Amino acid sequence: MAEAGSRFGKVVLARGDCAGCRIGGPEVPEHLGRMAEEARRYFPVEVEVVAGELPGERVGRRELFQALLGSAKRTAADLVPELPLPALEEKEGGLPAELRLRGLAAGRAPEVRWPRIRVEEGCTLCPVCTNVCPTEAVRRVREGEEYVLYLQVAACTGCGACVESCPPQVIRLEEAPKEEVGKELELFRGRPPWYDL
Ligand code: SF4
Ligand code: SF4
Repeated sequence: MAEAGSRFGKVVLARGDCAGCRIGGPEVPEHLGRMAEEARRYFPVEVEVVAGELPGERVGRRELFQALLGSAKRTAADLVPELPLPALEEKEGGLPAELRLRGLAAGRAPEVRWPRIRVEEGCTLCPVCTNVCPTEAVRRVREGEEYVLYLQVAACTGCGACVESCPPQVIRLEEAPKEEVGKELELFRGRPPWYDL
């Protein structure tokens, strides 16, 4: 929000029927207010929350975050030291180039601390963290009757969007040990409470 306010001025957020939403809940508007307060610690952004549709072209949260985090991605790319890069093993279904570069950067710059998230008991396997993650670091897949959350550690920027947005507040940010940076970790697995709905 602070970044958006510093670039575009007043930020207007639209929300739906939070009180009737089984994923969000009635506390969402209050939570947005707290996020706006937090954003004002970094920039005097004016935030307005309106109920219903906004006029104009729709921009998804993912596109917005991707645009705002462009500079963060460039910073991560800057961590990669001298060229040429060593040959990287290409494998079918392997990591996209950007993630491989981030993993390489982490390995070469031991002083760089790398974030990851952890999901604690109480996760409802809703789609919120996978939807808000600007780098698609978190994915949710169905495996039989279970759903599983996976984290691509190299893609996590530690932005905290998922931490802030998780309805039951079960995500926490922590430092990733270096050996986890290139890995995909299982964060949570289970049969969600809404499975039989
Ligand atoms: S960690 Fe939170 S946001 Fe992510 S699936 Fe679980 S409940 Fe939803
Ligand atoms: S902190 Fe959460 S939302 Fe941000 S990049 Fe990491 S997994 Fe994605």
